[in-house]
Amino acid sequence: MTADTVRNLIIVGSGPAGYTAAIYAARANLAPLVFEGSVTAGGALMNTTEVENFPGFPEGVMGPDLMEHMRAQAERFGAELIRDDVLSMDLSGPVKSVTDGEGNTHRAHAVILAMGSAYRELGLPDEQRLSGRGVSWCATCDGAFFREQDIVVVGGGDSAIEEATFLTRFARTVTLVHRRDALRASRIMADRAHANPKIRFAWNSEVAAIHGDSKVSSITLRDTVDGTERELEATGVFVAIGHLPRNELILGTVATDAEGYVTVAPGSTSTNVEGVFACGDLVDHTYRQAITAAGSGCAASLDAERFLADLE
Ligand code: FAD
Repeated sequence: MTADTVRNLIIVGSGPAGYTAAIYAARANLAPLVFEGSVTAGGALMNTTEVENFPGFPEGVMGPDLMEHMRAQAERFGAELIRDDVLSMDLSGPVKSVTDGEGNTHRAHAVILAMGSAYRELGLPDEQRLSGRGVSWCATCDGAFFREQDIVVVGGGDSAIEEATFLTRFARTVTLVHRRDALRASRIMADRAHANPKIRFAWNSEVAAIHGDSKVSSITLRDTVDGTERELEATGVFVAIGHLPRNELILGTVATDAEGYVTVAPGSTSTNVEGVFACGDLVDHTYRQAITAAGSGCAASLDAERFLADLE
């Protein structure tokens, strides 16, 4: 294809949302071009070990293997996959253009945004090394691995309380580590946490270090008032301090909500820009699961397919 060619569809992102959109679009003969990202190709599940809740794998599946299967399935039907980042996009007008890391510009009538969202990290040296080995950003995904264990949740907002409360189904104790002396969460959520006998509180505290060789074994807590430090034994650290939707390329062009998630028309994946669709964790405040991302990737592809058919 020459640089002047206008393709049907470009997909930006290679998590469950992007690859699923690619599978559907390729099977619909749209020959999509998929930008997978350079270092993070495959998306968030490349950073985890076992995924036990993706349907179709009764014994579980390793995150990177699942993503390799999705990638192969998209490639089998003719999706063109490029392991590069998109550095800029011009989405205005009927022909959209996307510029990659090599400086090449690609054009298409429709674009699907599937860039995902990053979990906010604590920024500690051993946090990434122990990710999937006790450090987690998702109670729904990993809670069941911590049966009868002593674990911590870091954060003080509604989602931290929700994670902590959910984790009490499995864990022996859940210590909520919060920088202040009162929760930021809504009253009803806070009351629920206070009433739960398994939840303990480490007030005015921050995690200064996470310890463990192959798995988390303890953390160092630092008092945010007097700076003193203490050790706390824990085998799990759930980080619940928020998410950052990867919207930097489209801010100011595609509408986002107050938290930066791309907004789509109700019951659809259409953004405010004609011919631009969005799916996965980039739009999803609520569920943030591989299967929901895949489902919305499918929807985005079907929406793009209908949009392209109407252009003919
Ligand atoms: P992502 O998977 O985040 O993929 C986004 C993609 O966009 C990436 O490939 C990235 O490279 C690409 N991208 C971003 N910007 C650009 C750009 N400028 N140019 C090109 N490409 C770009 N969910 C479950 O259902 N079960 C689990 O067990 C589970 N465990 C998890 C464990 C961990 C450690 C984490 C972090 C998440 C886990 N999740 C789990 C959540 C799940 O991974 C996400 O909900 C899902 O991956 C979201 O899919 P997505 O396609 O929207 O985004």
